[in-house]
Amino acid sequence: MRTVDLIQRKRNGEELSPEEITWLVESYTRGEIPDYQVSAFLMAVYFQSMTDVEVGAMVESMIASGERLDLSSVPGPKVDKHSTGGVGDKTSLICAPLAAAAGVKVPMVSGRALGHTGGTLDKLESIPGFRTNLSVDEFRDVLNRVGFAVMGQSDEITPADGKLYSLRDATGTVESIPLIAASIMSKKLAASLDGLVLDVKVGAGAFMKRQVDARKLAQLMTTIARRADLRAQALITDMNQPLGYAIGNALEIMEVSQTLQFSGPDDLTKISLELAARMIYLAKVTATMEEARDLATSKLRDGSGYAKFKDMIAAQGGNPQVLDRFDLLPNATGAMEITSPRGGYISHIDAEEIGIASAMIGAGRDTKEDSIDPAVGVILEVKVGQKVEAGGVLCRLYFTKEDRIGEAAERVEDAFRISSTAPEPRELILEVVS
Ligand code: URA
Repeated sequence: MRTVDLIQRKRNGEELSPEEITWLVESYTRGEIPDYQVSAFLMAVYFQSMTDVEVGAMVESMIASGERLDLSSVPGPKVDKHSTGGVGDKTSLICAPLAAAAGVKVPMVSGRALGHTGGTLDKLESIPGFRTNLSVDEFRDVLNRVGFAVMGQSDEITPADGKLYSLRDATGTVESIPLIAASIMSKKLAASLDGLVLDVKVGAGAFMKRQVDARKLAQLMTTIARRADLRAQALITDMNQPLGYAIGNALEIMEVSQTLQFSGPDDLTKISLELAARMIYLAKVTATMEEARDLATSKLRDGSGYAKFKDMIAAQGGNPQVLDRFDLLPNATGAMEITSPRGGYISHIDAEEIGIASAMIGAGRDTKEDSIDPAVGVILEVKVGQKVEAGGVLCRLYFTKEDRIGEAAERVEDAFRISSTAPEPRELILEVVS
C-alpha cells in the first residue's frame, strides 16, 4: 500500500477498507509514515469524514497498537468517565474521586490539552511530583489500593492515540466526529471497563458547536461501546461559557479542591455530581439514579471524595498538601485585570476565546514539542447572567512571561458580551444519550 493513494482516495470521499485503515495506523505508530503524510490524511478525514466501518477499524487498530489493560485482578465494578473537551472542564477530577468514594473502581485513561481545551493529565502534572506515566503494573496497584488511578496513552496503552492526538492538535484536525470518537473510544476500550460515562460538550468552547453534531458524536461513541458490550451513557452538556471560574492547569486544581470541599461554583458542582451519579449507577452500586445522586452528594458533603482525591495524588507521587496550601502549586508571577467598558448584564463569555488566550500565554501547546506552563491561565470574576458595573473586573489573566499577554488580553476582552437586559438562563445538561 502507498500512503499517498490512501490520502488521495480519502480526499476524494472514498471509503477505505478496514485493512487499509489498519495498515495506516500500524505503520504510523511504528514510525514508518512521516507526520506530514498522516497530517494530510487527517485533514482529508476532517473534510470527508469516515463511515462507521472505517471508524470501527480505526478504533480496533488504535487499541491493537498497544496492549489491553488487564484489570481482572482488581475486584469491583470498573467505570470511567471522559469528556470530549472543554474550557475550564475539570469535572473528571471531581466526579472520579466521588464515584471511587462510593465504591466504584475508576481506571482513568486521560488526555492532554487539545486545541483550546484543557487536558486532565496536564492539570494533574501541575501538582509537584505527580506522575501520569505509570506502568500498567503501577496503574493496577494504585487502582487496587485507592480505587481511582489516572494515566495517559503510553507505549503500552494506545500508543497510536498518543501520536495521532498530538499531531491533530498541531494540524487543525481536532474537530472531527470520527477522529474524536476513535481517540476516546480506543483509550476506553483498551481499559476493559464495565461502564463508561461520556460528557459530550457543545457550544462555543466545545469541538462540537451545534447540538446536532454533539448528538451524532454521542451516538457514535455509545454505538461503539454497545458493539463492544460496554454499558455507556453520554450527557450532552453546555460549553458556551467556561465551566467554573478557573481556566489553566494549577488554577483548575485549586478549583477542584474547593469544589471537593463543597465550596465550588454551582455549574461545576452540578455537572460533576450528575456525572458521578451516573458512574455509580452504571457500576450498579445503587439500583436507581435517584439513589446514585444521593450517594454522590453524600460523598461530596462528608469529604470522602476530597480524601479520595488526596489519596490518589499521594499514590501517584504528588504532594496532596497542595489541595490545602495553594502556595505549594506553581504560581504565576504577573496578573492583569480585564475590566468592563460599560455597565450591564454579562450575556455571553466565549469559552473558545478564553481557552485560546489561556493557551497563548502557556496553558496549552502550539506545536507538539511545546511544554505547558502550569501556573498560567485566567480566573473569571463574573459568569453569564451576572450584573457588572462600568470598570468592574471581568477576569484576571495570570502569566509568567509577558510575550503574548497583550494579544491574549485583547482576545479575552472580546470574549465578553454585555447587554442591558439579563439573558435567559441556559440549561447546563441538555440531553442524555444511552
Ligand atoms: N478527548 C480525547 O481523548 N480525544 C479527543 O479527540 C477529544 C477529547
